[in-house]
Amino acid sequence: MTTEHGYPAVRMYIAGQWCRGGTGRTAPIVNPATEQVIGEVPLATTADLDRALAAAAEGFRTWRGTPPARRTAILHAAADLLTERAADIGRTMTLEQGKPLAEATGEARRVADTLRWHIEDARRAYGRIIPSAPGTVLSVRREPIGPVAAFVPWNFPAGGPMRKISSALSAGCSIVIKASEETPATAAALVACFVDAGLPAGALNLVFGEPAEVSAHLIASPVTRLIAFTGSVPVGKLLAAEAGKVMKPSLMELGGHAPVIVCADADPAAAARRAARAKFANAGQVCTSPSRFLVHESLVEDFTAEFVKAAEAVVVGDGLAEGTTMGPLANERRLQAMLRLTADAVSRGAVVRTGGGRPDRPGYFFAPTVLTGVPADADLMREEPFGPLAPISAFSDLGAALRTANELPYGLAAYGFTESAATAERLAAELEAGILSLNHCGGSVHEAPSGGVKESGYGREGGPEALDAYLVTKRVSHLLAG
Ligand code: NAD
Repeated sequence: MTTEHGYPAVRMYIAGQWCRGGTGRTAPIVNPATEQVIGEVPLATTADLDRALAAAAEGFRTWRGTPPARRTAILHAAADLLTERAADIGRTMTLEQGKPLAEATGEARRVADTLRWHIEDARRAYGRIIPSAPGTVLSVRREPIGPVAAFVPWNFPAGGPMRKISSALSAGCSIVIKASEETPATAAALVACFVDAGLPAGALNLVFGEPAEVSAHLIASPVTRLIAFTGSVPVGKLLAAEAGKVMKPSLMELGGHAPVIVCADADPAAAARRAARAKFANAGQVCTSPSRFLVHESLVEDFTAEFVKAAEAVVVGDGLAEGTTMGPLANERRLQAMLRLTADAVSRGAVVRTGGGRPDRPGYFFAPTVLTGVPADADLMREEPFGPLAPISAFSDLGAALRTANELPYGLAAYGFTESAATAERLAAELEAGILSLNHCGGSVHEAPSGGVKESGYGREGGPEALDAYLVTKRVSHLLAG
């Protein structure tokens, strides 16, 4: 069933049933390219959450007890359905989040691979036997931690939920996931693939609601054993504190403010083109988006000129329109943040080299923007922009650039450009970040871990490390009879 805008009717999925919330309360879903309401999302009551928790407790027993080969077959069937449905899922994502259709469809395809990678990795969640005294067996086993409570944002409507769902289910856990109320239909479409693949009831539950109410309830419940969150630093701190009160482990994938250091020996034009491509992907709403450009003074004009050229080549428009390379911001909050950050920087002496405002049309559009001369105390240099703003500053000494890069409390992604192996190794050693890319600004891959240091969070998603949070290690020493 779809609305007149071609947008699917959204339901929660609790205890093996698609359902509306108990009171029928809903929130509107807005297409950010048109500002039109295109649908509504049901909001859970406490009773709905309790049903989801009870289902997850039961679902954990069932799913954990399902033979690994059967679990693997069901999850692979879900991955195949995701691949088959990627084009439809991509269209839904563009309607609710705004990103260009090609980006959205690519994300939908990639999550099938994320799932496949985790399924195969979990098959190797080996324990070990430790040599011990005759008549005893000393072993270490890795067991699923139990029902997971997960909370994910709106910037990657498929990628965000799938990182949590694929890790949890592959590890043998059940999960209650609260996806974003702003991009709920993509999450529901992912869940539908698992349902249609034969996942047992209760193993995966999808809810929406008032975020603070839902998180407080799911975290405090004795049913949930792991809290997994992706989102902003302030909300992450709040949820980690709530988890701490009940001594529950948490996995925190939070924001950053990624520095890009372009050293004196780098190719400024190539660096600018690569950095600009990453900067404007998903309209800059990526936790690893490059967001502070520190360029050696000898290259800064060439770098800026090429960056401005790349920004002006971006085709801003409705993500469904042919040729669009950057959609609107996902919501009005981000648009207001771009206006505020730009005005603050300009009031402190920054120069807008291109962009700097919103086009005269409906939708939460903001032009790809390049600023120079942004002073260090401007909000834009301290607050994650999470939008298409690129502040470029010059440096003369690499040590000073590294100090600037490391001075914020964040440490998610960082980037460096240099032709020198020695300088690259210095950047690798000294940049405080969980993810460092040298001479490129490419995105994350399933095979390798992603995550932050400092206030950007803890725990890792992707790579073999992804399973660590979802498994507990149990030591078993067995004195044999006789
Ligand atoms: P926000 O801090 O209000 O919300 C961030 C996410 O957390 C949203 O999905 C929201 O629904 C959820 N959330 C908020 N309060 C919650 C609670 N008490 N319990 C559970 N979930 C809760 O910010 P926003 O306006 O949606 O986004 C703004 C900022 O958030 C951005 O500037 C960016 O720094 C950060 N953000 C980071 C990521 C990421 O991938 N790390 C994604 C989205 C947003």
